[in-house]
Amino acid sequence: MQLYNSATRKKEEFIPREAGKVSMYTCGPTVYHFAHIGNLRSYIMEDILEKHLRFTGLDVKRVMNITDVGHLTSDGDTGDDKMLKGAKREKKTVMEIAKFYTDAFFADCAKLNIKTPDVVEPATGCIDDFICVISSLIEKGYAYEAGGNIYFDTGKLDKYYIFNDFKEEDLAVGVREGVEEDSNKRNKADFVLWFTKSKFDDQELKWDSPWGVGYPGWHIECSCISMKHLGEYLDLHCGGIDNAFPHHTNEIAQSEAYVGHEWCNYWFHVHHLNTNSGKMSKSSGEFLTVSLLEEKGYSPLVYRFFCLQSHYRKNLVFSWDNLDNAKLTFNKLIAKIAPLTTEAAGEIDKAEYDRLMNGFVSALDNDLNTALAVTSVYDVLKSTANASTKLALLNEFDKVLGLDMVETAKKFLEAADDTSDIPAEVMELVEQRKAARKEKNFALADELRDKISAMGYEVKETRQGTEIIKL
Ligand code: AMP
Ligand code: ZN
Repeated sequence: MQLYNSATRKKEEFIPREAGKVSMYTCGPTVYHFAHIGNLRSYIMEDILEKHLRFTGLDVKRVMNITDVGHLTSDGDTGDDKMLKGAKREKKTVMEIAKFYTDAFFADCAKLNIKTPDVVEPATGCIDDFICVISSLIEKGYAYEAGGNIYFDTGKLDKYYIFNDFKEEDLAVGVREGVEEDSNKRNKADFVLWFTKSKFDDQELKWDSPWGVGYPGWHIECSCISMKHLGEYLDLHCGGIDNAFPHHTNEIAQSEAYVGHEWCNYWFHVHHLNTNSGKMSKSSGEFLTVSLLEEKGYSPLVYRFFCLQSHYRKNLVFSWDNLDNAKLTFNKLIAKIAPLTTEAAGEIDKAEYDRLMNGFVSALDNDLNTALAVTSVYDVLKSTANASTKLALLNEFDKVLGLDMVETAKKFLEAADDTSDIPAEVMELVEQRKAARKEKNFALADELRDKISAMGYEVKETRQGTEIIKL
């Protein structure tokens, strides 16, 4: 597979270190609030990547952390503690907040058909591992104590900025956040590995350490949790593009200092979901959740479909109009698949199967071109192959796409048979339209169809008869 690697800024052939096996790490959510649909865009695309690798025969082990300590609002060492902020907002303890939003996150993932990684590890469960790695970094001369905290010394590295061409003077973390710079730091880019002394006197979770009672910085958790489960070498590391700096940059710095060699070969970054007013973010307080989409009548899988229609390395603009378009397209697709579910019979047409399967796999092999993979679904429907061949292909594609296409199509047929939920006015217009068609008055039939769609229903003729779909 050709995959864009943010570390080399090139599309490269993806070659795992050990033939046939992939070690994959994903930065998990910070569980102080619901995941927003922007976060979930990243997890959907990572899920597709994992499933595609598995689909092409690789044995993937995927690990994800849960950030329940240490993440500050700045992504660096300034700002408020996100978990504490969440706990105060809801007048609960940090651990209560963490449990509630971890469960909520996986409930959302389930609705979006995002597979749970093989290992999920909360940061608070690995404090001893962090202490062990930090101690070793101090011993090796890569970390120092200043003002009560332990810092990573970026001045010890030949190369620190991996993903972009930052200059020290552009970094200006303090300036960006409107807070004072930390005068304990030897270099501007140094970052905290362990806080023992900080402005968070009311920090709820604290642990004993060789440097006093305190708590870990955010970045150390991903290095440690990855190495704990996947060893000294990592094939593939994923996250949203905002994680590239400082989070992933710091992960590389401390992991390579600790193991003494290169650590991760491929970096996969998903670009942002934006609204017209900018990036969707939890901290702004204004964000959309899966539950909200459901309340507004959108199936979570319509959102998944919406994400698949664009490339992960482009920003995606969310608007209700865009989501409505995705919903319409998805419903039409399901309506096209529906008749196949009752026709399927006959032998698989091997040649056609292979041709269409190749198209699908090569789309995803090309830096995960999900939009083209969706086009392959239409190619299947257009093909002259029999229904068994088409259904077999759609079921296989769905192992990666995760859209429940065939299942949804079956339910759609059942619902189409059951007209009891459809308002009487709509049914009346449907009957008038049938009569108009019988009399070959197609102008009137079209007019009636428009009236029906204005009432939120689509009516169409299929081999099975008239179908009425709620839009
Ligand atoms: P967090 O819960 O803030 O730690 O973020 C969880 C994941 O969502 C990380 O991989 C982030 O990089 C990613 N992320 C955050 N905001 C967005 C966004 N607007 N669009 C896509 N991914 C995002
Ligand atoms: Zn991480």
